[in-house]
Amino acid sequence: MAGLEYLTNCAIVRSADLPMSAGARKGLSTMKGVALVKGATDVAGSRVQSEASSSEIDKDEQIDFSLLAMEEMARADAEGLTLEKVLNEPQLLQKLKVQANRSGVGEDAVALLDHERQLSNALRSAAPPGGGFSAARLRRARVGFRAIAERFFAAGSTYELPLTAAEVATVFGRWEEADESCVRAQPGGEEELLASFAPALEKVRALLDPLVPKLARGMAAPGRVREIKGKVKGKIRVVVVGGGYSGCVVAKFLDADKRFHVTLVDPKEYFEDATAMPKAVVDPGLSPQDKEGRWPQIVAKYKGATILNGSIVYGLCTGITRTHVVVGAFRRCVPYDFAVIATGSSYTSSIKTQNPSLSFRWRQMAQERAVLEKCKRVIVVGGGLTGCEFAGDIAETFPQTRVTLIQRNDKILPHISGAHEKVVPVLEALGVRVMTNCDVTKIDQLSGTVAFSIAQALHPIRASCVTQTRTLQRTRPWMLTASSGCPTR
Ligand SMILES: Cc1cc2nc3c(=O)[nH]c(=O)nc-3n(C[C@H](O)[C@H](O)[C@H](O)COP(=O)(O)OP(=O)(O)OC[C@H]3O[C@@H](n4cnc5c(N)ncnc54)[C@H](O)[C@@H]3O)c2cc1C
Repeated sequence: MAGLEYLTNCAIVRSADLPMSAGARKGLSTMKGVALVKGATDVAGSRVQSEASSSEIDKDEQIDFSLLAMEEMARADAEGLTLEKVLNEPQLLQKLKVQANRSGVGEDAVALLDHERQLSNALRSAAPPGGGFSAARLRRARVGFRAIAERFFAAGSTYELPLTAAEVATVFGRWEEADESCVRAQPGGEEELLASFAPALEKVRALLDPLVPKLARGMAAPGRVREIKGKVKGKIRVVVVGGGYSGCVVAKFLDADKRFHVTLVDPKEYFEDATAMPKAVVDPGLSPQDKEGRWPQIVAKYKGATILNGSIVYGLCTGITRTHVVVGAFRRCVPYDFAVIATGSSYTSSIKTQNPSLSFRWRQMAQERAVLEKCKRVIVVGGGLTGCEFAGDIAETFPQTRVTLIQRNDKILPHISGAHEKVVPVLEALGVRVMTNCDVTKIDQLSGTVAFSIAQALHPIRASCVTQTRTLQRTRPWMLTASSGCPTR
């Protein structure tokens, strides 16, 4: 029971797992998206270690052994650690972002390298077998590099890179030239595009490289058991992994109860209302503090809002033993009596992210808005709750933008009885064109074209921005999905 793979699977809280002394309370037993893992010992004393069979004791020894094995592996990984390796490991990437913030380089610089890495990986896997030129791969490269240019190097970008304004403008100019020359679709286009970013990427790498040995030292050090000071004595130690809705509700509820000591584990320092992210994109406000914008109502730092008495450990949980939760690149061990796993879901886009700082998240949203604002036409694929909300929010905020909502079924919001009839007039009044019975079969982000079939005929429509609320079926591998290349989510 270790590894991120396990953590993506959530179960339901079973109140029967709570010791009698803890007593489940109303609401807790019905909460979805949460698993409760019983620890090996019970501080409250109802089911204590005396009940543990010899095989359970053996298991504890195995756990110690597995922690030691983890330590050995981490030591081996720390040897010869490079920035590239760090960027490819989620928990190391996370730690690098934290260290970049502390050192003043900023996590925006890490985010830039991360975007470039994701694109390079995608292009590598899209390389034709046996090498050679692929026009499709070049198109993919153009979409990806455009997404990076429009976000990080556009004039007035909200991202804070450790570059001068002149350097940023030069990169954007060079990218425009390289992209223009790629219209002819000749071999070498990808290299030209990458070269236009090279000076910026090199400078950022040079600033981040010195942080790598520090990371390696931390990895090679023995995993530290987090000491929960003072107040924990005699309390039931609950570790809540994941501070989304589920995790926060459980953490806040138990944190207010004197019988528990709660430790919340999350890579972010803040809770965000995922359902309000479309609103955050269209209206993040002029600054994170701007009360006129939506931002202050959508996010809240865990400290002071969710956890008042317990503790917070920032980092990605990478493993769970029967006694500890292992967190982050430095394998911090947080002991527990009960562990609540509420790590939720993830998306291919940045609709949910694991970036550590709240200030970065705002800059990301503000820049998404800046990109969206320039679009003349937006297509939203998928007429469920999120798609309808997104389409309506965009149309309301940018009345000059032509918004089209494409839905496969004959009705939007098909799971809510009567919703189609009520919502369509509202969307149309906002200027949204609602197209039902359209099965999207292909999305070409470079030309901004969405092809859909009605009775087997393909009808392309064009947009400067295509948003998808879910990925297209994986059984059709030739389809593009809205990942890093999509100008907005
Ligand atoms: C745009 C949008 C609109 C939506 N609208 C609705 C709606 O109207 N109604 C509705 O019911 N649902 C809606 N949903 C779905 C809803 O957001 C999810 O069901 C909900 O977020 C699930 O909550 P959760 O707490 O289980 O997980 P999440 O919200 O996904 O939270 C998981 C948390 O775990 C953390 N985490 C992940 N991995 C680790 C790890 N390894 N270690 C430590 N921490 C980790 C993450 O950082 C995150 O904080 C919407 C979703 C979106 C994106």
